[in-house]
Amino acid sequence: MKNLQSRKTLFNGVEMPILGLGVFRVEDGQELIDAVKIAIKHGYRSIDTAAIYGNEVGVGQGIRKGIEEGHVAREDLFVTSKVWNSELGYEATIAAYEESLAKLGLEYLDLYLIHWPVEGKYKEAWKALETLYKEGRVKAIGVSNFHINHLEELLKDAEIIPMINQVEYHPRLSQKELQTFCKEHDIQLEAWSPLMAGQLLDNEELQEIAAKYGKSVAQIIIRWDLQNDVITIPKSTKEHRIVENADVFDFELTKDDMSRINNMNKNQRVGPDPDNFDF
Ligand code: NDP
Repeated sequence: MKNLQSRKTLFNGVEMPILGLGVFRVEDGQELIDAVKIAIKHGYRSIDTAAIYGNEVGVGQGIRKGIEEGHVAREDLFVTSKVWNSELGYEATIAAYEESLAKLGLEYLDLYLIHWPVEGKYKEAWKALETLYKEGRVKAIGVSNFHINHLEELLKDAEIIPMINQVEYHPRLSQKELQTFCKEHDIQLEAWSPLMAGQLLDNEELQEIAAKYGKSVAQIIIRWDLQNDVITIPKSTKEHRIVENADVFDFELTKDDMSRINNMNKNQRVGPDPDNFDF
């Protein structure tokens, strides 16, 4: 865990950057293209998108710009996308993968995720991800928003264990049980909305800790993710914040401060509960 290019080895040997850029709620267009390119220019190697974000075309353009300008080679980038709920089925999921690739203008993805555990559908979709993986068309496969019960159900029939579970994770939702379960099964946890979609940035306790280290609240939270062994993908489209969010490798949170932040958990979500969603 030395710098922005540091990677975590997933159980299948694929190395995933521990810190990446999220692009949820960023419209396809110039702002997005610039944000992706700027992030790559500043050393980001991982970009997280999804079919439902409607911005894979722009993400692909940003990636190509980054490559053309000589900041990175494709093989050093780690690109994630996710299959949306309406496409969960064997054939439909394979087709959705093709469509994401076409929109991104890429020959393969580094990670493809089932976005939400839609009851009665995610196991068929998982078979499709296993096929894509076995055919070498994607480097790693995983899930998102899976609780323990969803993982247990999936694992009953899975040939391949998911390499990643990307879930809402921040100091108000620190997912301890889920992380323990994932660790036991070699599934790497990844945080979405690590900053609680911005809602934690004015939290007084975090501000107090941040002042002690001369860091911002965003940096404290991102560092807390990494020290807790959670891969993280904060979103920003602003260059100074993209840089700020990656400037977390020159300090370490003490054990006391780690437990102080761990103790802020209130099982509080900013997004839907995977046991109770209707989309
Ligand atoms: P984050 O927790 O990353 O917070 C993003 C918000 O914080 C934005 O409003 C951003 O504004 C602001 N922000 C970012 N950095 C700073 C900073 N240093 N100082 C002040 N404000 C800052 O929220 P997201 O919901 O976007 O989550 C991150 C990523 O996780 C998503 O983009 C997406 O890729 C993924 N995700 C996955 C989901 C899933 O179901 N699998 C669900 C939700 C998200 P600004 O851009 O103006 O800087």
